[in-house]
Amino acid sequence: MGVVLEGKSKTFATRAEVLIIGAGACGTIAALAANERGAEVLILERDAKPTGNTSLSGGQIPAAGTRLQHAAGLLDDTPELLHQDILAKAHGECDHAIARRIADEAAKTVEWLVDRYKLPLSCVLDFQYPGHSRPHMHASPSRYGAELLTVLVAAVEAEGIPIAGSATATDLFADAEGKSAGRIQGVRVKRPDGAAEEIGCDALILACNGFGGNKTMLARHIPEAVDLFYEGHTGNQGDAVIWGEALGASIKDMGSFQGHGAVATPHGMHLAWATVTEGGYHVNAEGRRFSNENAGYSEQALKVHKQAGKVAWAIWDARGEEIALRQHSHALAQESGAVKRYDSAGAMAKAIGCDAKVLERTVREVEALAAGKGKDAFGRDFARKPPLKAPYLMAKIMGALTHTQGGLEIDTAMRVLRKDGTPFPNLFAGGGAARGLSGPADWGYLSGSGLLMATNTGRLAGEAAAKLVKVS
Ligand SMILES: Cc1cc2nc3c(=O)[nH]c(=O)nc-3n(C[C@H](O)[C@H](O)[C@H](O)COP(=O)(O)OP(=O)(O)OC[C@H]3O[C@@H](n4cnc5c(N)ncnc54)[C@H](O)[C@@H]3O)c2cc1C
Repeated sequence: MGVVLEGKSKTFATRAEVLIIGAGACGTIAALAANERGAEVLILERDAKPTGNTSLSGGQIPAAGTRLQHAAGLLDDTPELLHQDILAKAHGECDHAIARRIADEAAKTVEWLVDRYKLPLSCVLDFQYPGHSRPHMHASPSRYGAELLTVLVAAVEAEGIPIAGSATATDLFADAEGKSAGRIQGVRVKRPDGAAEEIGCDALILACNGFGGNKTMLARHIPEAVDLFYEGHTGNQGDAVIWGEALGASIKDMGSFQGHGAVATPHGMHLAWATVTEGGYHVNAEGRRFSNENAGYSEQALKVHKQAGKVAWAIWDARGEEIALRQHSHALAQESGAVKRYDSAGAMAKAIGCDAKVLERTVREVEALAAGKGKDAFGRDFARKPPLKAPYLMAKIMGALTHTQGGLEIDTAMRVLRKDGTPFPNLFAGGGAARGLSGPADWGYLSGSGLLMATNTGRLAGEAAAKLVKVS
């Protein structure tokens, strides 16, 4: 795995104008966009059938001011509001120009995918994630990313764009020096039987996500997340970053990641966050709350992980459950027996194994906060939602890592940047391979930021790569 520097141009038996590594949302959307602009495209995918993070995700994509929102009666969302929400969640510590471009392009991307490629998206109006000043989310029917990736892969195939499956890109061939130093000539690919192939290209798009599946890289960059349960795709081995380091690319925010603070244990399926937004909360093995759960599901992962036994219990009620069940992963958790029903705080205490008096006090305190009495020690505003009503629903939970957010620095044309800020001649990156919008840590992740990046950088990288190969 690395970069082979070439003194002169290599000859390749096989070539593509635009070569794309990875067939997730970013790679498939980049392929569709480049193909529309007349480029000849080839996608390389390490899995026999694409099953990356896009297919594991909740399939929810933020966009502002879409025709779908207007049709649903939401008239006051704007790209500016989405931009401000991204900046606020990241405390301003992300790339402002990229955040601006993505927020501005998101409505166009969603409408294009829905209109032209029949992506099954509709607005999520039944609840709002923390940090979203408007309901920005557009989701697939079961709020499940596999529903999106299936349609994207079918669209790619219908357009006649080849996806080479079981093809792991291992090495990049790049110009060694001169004005074109770092120009990508092609890629070496390894097949499952060990055979290697070399494929040339005029432009390369890295759409092979981050390094969540690589424990060595996690230990180096995000040691606190190494022993979190990993909910993402194991094929995310950080290849884009490894190649970027070898090429001298600028790499940023490597300590950043998206966590999830409510993954049912031992089942390994995440609860929908409506279990929190609708007035639910988390308690530890003593029956005490320990955080503002509604700050965001990403930062809640480490807060849960720091509790005794690295677990906690999520408590919610039928109102939150009705919304939560619309999400695939939550329905799976429910079906697998992770969610239990209890008539009283005493019964929940028995299941947790904590002092009933402590849990009863916690339940009463939250009821009082929801009724507008007192101030939460953790700064959460419970008064926006009605108090929970028995019977309660409860699940034992752990914190999880879903994907990393650090990566290759790109400019607003999706070109990978060198350390000195100049772009490589024909190298583009998007989705989880690129630096995300979350700033340096886990607290900056605005819900939906992963697919927001993957879909928009995918379209923009595909357009830019096609433009490059068609003029040069
Ligand atoms: C459980 C879970 C829930 C999530 N829910 C949401 C959500 O609701 N909304 C949201 O915005 N985000 C969500 N995310 C994050 C989101 O899924 C990702 O940010 C997004 O899918 C990234 O898309 P991508 O195309 O960059 O990567 P992927 O979809 O992971 O695609 C990358 C592809 O590259 C391939 N690949 C990797 N290395 C190589 C190589 N060397 N050669 C060839 N192929 C290679 C992989 O096999 C993979 O198919 C969730 C993530 C998880 C894990």
